[in-house]
Amino acid sequence: MASQELIRKLEKTIENIPDFPIPGIQFKDISPIFLDSKLYEEVIADLAAASRGKVDAVCGIESRGYLFGIAIAVALEVPFILIRKAGKLPPPVISEKYDLEYGSAVIETREGQIKAGQKVLIHDDLLATGGTTEAAARLVEKQGATVAQFSFLIALTGLKGEEKLKKFNAEVYHILE
Ligand code: AMP
Repeated sequence: MASQELIRKLEKTIENIPDFPIPGIQFKDISPIFLDSKLYEEVIADLAAASRGKVDAVCGIESRGYLFGIAIAVALEVPFILIRKAGKLPPPVISEKYDLEYGSAVIETREGQIKAGQKVLIHDDLLATGGTTEAAARLVEKQGATVAQFSFLIALTGLKGEEKLKKFNAEVYHILE
């Protein structure tokens, strides 16, 4: 559980941008966090503490999942694996397709970086509909590893993202809603 002080600081720092990138969406801009190195350190300490002793690898989802994911992995002294959109990683890769509101998308990891039997943390900056995170979890399981935990800086409630993740029987940790 994040401290009330950290929650309050983040609520003051993260900017809510209405109607971006399309009308009706309130965009959470996390970039002001990186202007304050002390605050960034506090966020990493909180996210790392939530996962300590529970995971032996961290997978970050492109691209804002990398901003915190690598630092979490370094703090936990475990490997960090990039989950990227199709076509960005050189072969050989393992792929997973998922449905978007219009059409579909594919995410990938380099083959061999996730090891069978690993307990994996899947991290992203924000959980919205959960579509991307669900596909990431399937990609992890496809490689014989287990999703032990999901973590997010922000989990938007009302979009039912957490419900999509229930089937993986993994803890869901977030600092803000
Ligand atoms: P989803 O697959 O719907 O859970 O979308 C999650 C991804 O979209 C995350 O990687 C976020 O970075 C991004 N995203 C979705 N909604 C927002 C939002 N309201 N503000 C900022 N980023 C968002």
